[in-house]
Amino acid sequence: MAVIDSILQKVPSDAQISATAYEGANIVLYTKNKTFFMQGGDIIRALVDEFKKRIDLRADAHIRKDAEEAKKFVEKTISADADITQILFEPARSVITIEAKKPGVAIGKEGENLKRIKEETLWTPVVRRESVIPSKITTNIRNVLFTDSEYRRKFLDSVGKRIYELRKTAPDEEMWARVTILGAGRQVGRSCFLLQTPESKVLLDCGINVAASGKYQFPYLSVPEFHIEDIDAIIISHAHLDHCGFLPYLFKMGYRGPVYCTEATRDVMALLMLDYIDVAQASSKPPLYSSTDIKETIKHCITLEYGEVTDITPDMRITLYNAGHILGSAFVHCHLGEGWHNFMYTGDFKVKSSMLFDGCTLTFPRLETLMMESTYGNTEDNMPTREACEEQLIKIVKETIQRKGKVIIPSLGVGRSQEIMLIMEQFSRQEKIDFPVWVDGMVWDVAAIHNAYPRFLNKDVREKIFYEGKDPFLSPIFKQVGSGKERKLVVDGPPCVIIATSGMLTGGPSVQYLKELGDNPKNSLVFVNYQSEGSLGNKVQKGDKEVQIDDNLVKIKLDVHTISGLSGHSDREELLSFINKVKPRPRKVIIVHGENSKTLDLASSLHKAYKIETLAPRNLETIRLR
Ligand SMILES: [Zn+2]
Repeated sequence: MAVIDSILQKVPSDAQISATAYEGANIVLYTKNKTFFMQGGDIIRALVDEFKKRIDLRADAHIRKDAEEAKKFVEKTISADADITQILFEPARSVITIEAKKPGVAIGKEGENLKRIKEETLWTPVVRRESVIPSKITTNIRNVLFTDSEYRRKFLDSVGKRIYELRKTAPDEEMWARVTILGAGRQVGRSCFLLQTPESKVLLDCGINVAASGKYQFPYLSVPEFHIEDIDAIIISHAHLDHCGFLPYLFKMGYRGPVYCTEATRDVMALLMLDYIDVAQASSKPPLYSSTDIKETIKHCITLEYGEVTDITPDMRITLYNAGHILGSAFVHCHLGEGWHNFMYTGDFKVKSSMLFDGCTLTFPRLETLMMESTYGNTEDNMPTREACEEQLIKIVKETIQRKGKVIIPSLGVGRSQEIMLIMEQFSRQEKIDFPVWVDGMVWDVAAIHNAYPRFLNKDVREKIFYEGKDPFLSPIFKQVGSGKERKLVVDGPPCVIIATSGMLTGGPSVQYLKELGDNPKNSLVFVNYQSEGSLGNKVQKGDKEVQIDDNLVKIKLDVHTISGLSGHSDREELLSFINKVKPRPRKVIIVHGENSKTLDLASSLHKAYKIETLAPRNLETIRLR
């Protein structure tokens, strides 16, 4: 019997359940009985305990107030101080979403406002935080989800049916699990892994290698075991393109299943994907996919909070945990079957905390196999402390400004840029600075998304934004570059700091600044993130004195620096210590996402240090987990 029928059998008959639906793994019951809607909480909680499923009770359309009246009541109940920006109705789900700049005020003391709205209107109210910095992307995404709310409802219901009602195999079939490396095996870029059990085919990440060209950019999806129509779910660890950049292409090819990620990852990845096609168009390369494919991707995202356990197939249950790498980045923990194996994929992660994020989670309920990154896995990859890096950056900035030069900091739009912004903001509070910090590319939009989701930031920044209303990203030292014309003014203008995407000089404004400012020895270039082999950044970092940009040969005379300790990745020491700290200690460790020598080095070091089985698979290899 389907789980929903078993649940219905336990609901009292006078509850008048008129309809049931799935919202992904959540089960929703609609009632026509007002008293049960208001007072059935204990019965529902008991069912949740018994069935270990999330169950929501909502009012049937026939008993709730009409939307217009309900809207008036919401406006009357919540004080203007909450700064409501939108009230959105989803009639098919009986849900009202209230977007406010001060969500705490909207909710009211101990949720009293929401309780009153629910009692009076019989709609289920939800409050969401609206960014104080206007964020087009977050607003657009939320609008896409609401405009297509009917499609979304059907989609979520079909996902639930797959999880609970459409078992492909007999429950007593022999259990096995294996993971196939479709990208990022002994390399950085195009992360993509196929996790299979008798019942599930799940893709972990689906990235592109932005530094490579031709077919080497994409994961190996032409392997015989990959059929797009058989994929049950895709899980995205974080928004960097080497982990999700190929995803819209799967939608272009017809994938219509769920994509699991955090809410912040969904918004940031939409922004990075849109930027990716813009950059392709600007360099007159045909883009891999269109904005329509990105919109399709967003429509199929199911967002999860850190620590929220959810079924995604009949034999797989996942939980996302903080990975400390960028906004919304997550470890993907997969609990297989009745717990016959526990597998975790780290994506990119950082053990130590940074200016923006807490260090990654270290304790898990169970863990047998760990698949981890090794970007900085070599013995020479130990990094100086964060404080030393901050000092080094400030020193370079001071010296360059003094000699009337400009500092270019090519930066990934997400993560490092915001970290650098916080360092500059801190510096401006300690010493009065008389030069602007220009922010170019999508860095600004990303800062807005940080503001929309303070719950993903560390305690210090979160409290500043929440309680003091002081968002460091709103400091007056930051100036936004909005057009090519303004970029020219920055190039011709007085000494300054320029934070610009892309981080590896693989396109975007950072390349344009290098083209204009590269041949002046007064200027400086500071690399703050990893430079993939083959990228322009890698060439400049290695000391090439002349590089090709567009049709120009640019002489590199500016001062080139690398600051490695501001990375959002764990350094070698942190990678080693992670295995020591993580609880429980895994029996098997699979090393991916690192250059050939680094994966091998880390695999052998971990094996020697902890006497555990380690592997450094190449692309296309399959590893049996159980
Ligand atoms: Zn990353």
